Amino acid sequence: MEESATIAMAQKARDLKSKGVDVISLSMGEPNFKTPDHIQQAAKEAIDSQKYFGYPPVPGYPDFREAIAKKFREENSIECSAANIVVSTGAKQSIANIMMSMLDAGDEVIVLSPYWVSYADVIKVAEGVPVFVKGSIDDNFKASASQIEAAITDKTKMMIFSSPCNPSGEVFTKEEIEPIVKVLEQHENIYVVSDEIYEHINFTGSHVSIGSYPSIKDRVITVNGVAKAFAMTGWRIGYICAPEVIAKACTKIQGQFTSAPNGIAQRAAMAAITTDLAPTKAMAKEYFERRQMVFDLLNEIPGVKTIMPSGAFYFLPEISSYFGKSTGKWTINNAGDLCMYLLEDAHVSLVTGEAFGVPECVRLSYAASREELKEAVKRISEALAKLQ
Ligand code: PMP
Repeated sequence: MEESATIAMAQKARDLKSKGVDVISLSMGEPNFKTPDHIQQAAKEAIDSQKYFGYPPVPGYPDFREAIAKKFREENSIECSAANIVVSTGAKQSIANIMMSMLDAGDEVIVLSPYWVSYADVIKVAEGVPVFVKGSIDDNFKASASQIEAAITDKTKMMIFSSPCNPSGEVFTKEEIEPIVKVLEQHENIYVVSDEIYEHINFTGSHVSIGSYPSIKDRVITVNGVAKAFAMTGWRIGYICAPEVIAKACTKIQGQFTSAPNGIAQRAAMAAITTDLAPTKAMAKEYFERRQMVFDLLNEIPGVKTIMPSGAFYFLPEISSYFGKSTGKWTINNAGDLCMYLLEDAHVSLVTGEAFGVPECVRLSYAASREELKEAVKRISEALAKLQ
């Protein structure tokens, strides 16, 4: 199992910062906003009420699970009740619970690539085998239904993908999801894990949940959480909507590993999903504007190929034209070398695409201020210009 490349890079950036180096960190998927006030307030009220200091029920407080089920029914057209919901310590734990409870040794999991860094390693910890199905930059990084079909074997247990996607920022549209549903209809033993944590950071105007298709809904596990939409990364609340038998299995695993997630954080997350989406929309609007700015700036750099992402807050530029180049001191053989060079020389931290199944790319998070982003791209451009 590998260390998470995003966390490792963020740590390197922190280490340099602690030595007084002015590092701009664009490696973590971390909103640079404060958790909205009404959510902070809900947490304060939960503390003052003195009602939430004990162990909560393992899958989460019943009223919070009801509220999540209502959200899935109303916003995602997914039929469900509280019995289908399990709340966890971040969507990361939700995904780990799913893999640990569902995979047997040797089970294959089709991972649409580029993929979020932790999928592959969590699958391996659960003794599964990740099978990567890659969408190229020319297809906006989206694998097609026919590629998925070709990867299915009699060992395939599951498929996992994120939309909006981390790291590509791409959104699977209705037109792209429907042929995938058709393929899955032909394979009744295959489950789907749909990671929708960037649901609210979507610039296409529509979010399609694969769990809303009646023909496969009994085989879909939808993952979501409050980290990205509500700037609540540190509160650590994620959740799933799953067939009841899987929800029970995830609860059992969670009951042995960590028990329920933090009670006060659950009350704050309850406020997040049941009240005003205006702060979330305002944050999404700001990401939308930064996206254009960063796109224009990246396009000015020779040898950097990038598409305009449709959601989340990442760019995944292709930088392989720099492989084989050198400053004399630094030689760039791969995206990892380029990230180390940019960190040491330009003091900008990005993440190597190797961690996401795209070794020809690097990932840049634009969840940073406009000033930081402008300065970071300027520094990247200057550092790349030194490579001959
Ligand atoms: N899925 C994806 C696609 C993510 O980008 C992240 C966070 N980087 C997670 C899951 C995990 O979210 P959480 O912080 O709720 O554990």
